[in-house]
Amino acid sequence: MNKRVYMDHAATTYTKTEVLQTMMPFYTELFGNPSSVHQFGREVKKHIDTAREQIAKALGALPEEIYFTAGGSEADNWAIKGIAYANRKKGNHIITTKIEHPGLLESCKYLEKEGFEVTYLDVDEYGLVKPEDVERAIKENTILISVMYANNEIGTIQSIAEIAGLAKERKIYFHTDAVQAVGSIKIDVKEQNIDLLSLSAHKFYGPKGVGALYIRKGVKIISILHGGHQERGRRAGTENVPGIIGLGKAIEIAVNTMDENAARIKALRDKLIQGVMEKVPYTRLNGHPEKRLPGNTSFCFEFIEGESLLLNLDIKGIAGSSGSACSSGSLDPSHVLLAIGLSHEIAHGSLRLSLGDINTQEDIDYVLEVLPPIVDRLRQMSPLYERVKGGK
Ligand SMILES: *Cc1c(COP(=O)(O)O)cnc(C)c1O
Repeated sequence: MNKRVYMDHAATTYTKTEVLQTMMPFYTELFGNPSSVHQFGREVKKHIDTAREQIAKALGALPEEIYFTAGGSEADNWAIKGIAYANRKKGNHIITTKIEHPGLLESCKYLEKEGFEVTYLDVDEYGLVKPEDVERAIKENTILISVMYANNEIGTIQSIAEIAGLAKERKIYFHTDAVQAVGSIKIDVKEQNIDLLSLSAHKFYGPKGVGALYIRKGVKIISILHGGHQERGRRAGTENVPGIIGLGKAIEIAVNTMDENAARIKALRDKLIQGVMEKVPYTRLNGHPEKRLPGNTSFCFEFIEGESLLLNLDIKGIAGSSGSACSSGSLDPSHVLLAIGLSHEIAHGSLRLSLGDINTQEDIDYVLEVLPPIVDRLRQMSPLYERVKGGK
């Protein structure tokens, strides 16, 4: 069989066998509706409560502050719209950044049409948001600041506690999209003064289509899904029971194994970065050299198209991504790469290889063997490259 190397863990991860096993009974014998009063329902409800405790423990939150959603996008939508509408009388100004996930950016754009005002902060060349810029953007009518914990494309980790502290001093709510961070880096919502936090199970070896929004007790937020009284009346709809059970198990495993996993993956990441930078000329590493997710690598190769590179890597069995999965299919370069100051040409030649717990040293060696000649071959077709090589 041909070699296959999966390096797209930022798009999604496989579900761990252990996680899947805890989910299975909830498709069969434990099928009751947790809202039912009979024992079929009550039995299931107990397990949902356990999952809620597992998530709360992982974040340093209280179980009653965890609300299940259908994933990260729903959690982002709920946080932004829910806070905006609930606090409209206090103000209509929201501060976020130019590098957020579409689930967040599009929610903000929607609110602008609804009469809200949104400031989209710039980031520096590494993708870092400057706390002083956040401070400067705050106005009398600011009700919410939302800054992602770690970026899905370039891996940059923000100074969340510092920014959240600024929000707290001014009694402004602080939300963070922590979908890429949860399970990979330590988070404590109380210590870091986070009021709302989005997470998604399929980014840390749990099932797809399930996530959660942490809402600190006392935060004023409205519901988006109306109907039944699930989630203490805040999010209607019969629970995705197997998904929730899987989410709880996955976050527990991720937190318990975080230190050793992060260290191992980080070491592989650094070998990959070093190898690519050494072997491929005219290459740029995107994101911050140190403040970066353990599994993230992101490069721009001058004179080539990221899409052709991806297809060529795919033929060799290597799965990566260019830009974000959500924007592939469009020809616009990634909004994140433009925000860190790259030109359209350079941003087009981007490649993200995101590592996870299945990756090995052999995978790194294989990529370092296969990638440089592909880049070289694609560059031979570029008239611009010919000129640069010719020294003109
Ligand atoms: C994947 C991702 C999301 C969306 O989560 P889904 O569960 O796929 O809806 C949101 N934000 C970030 C940073 C992500 O990486």
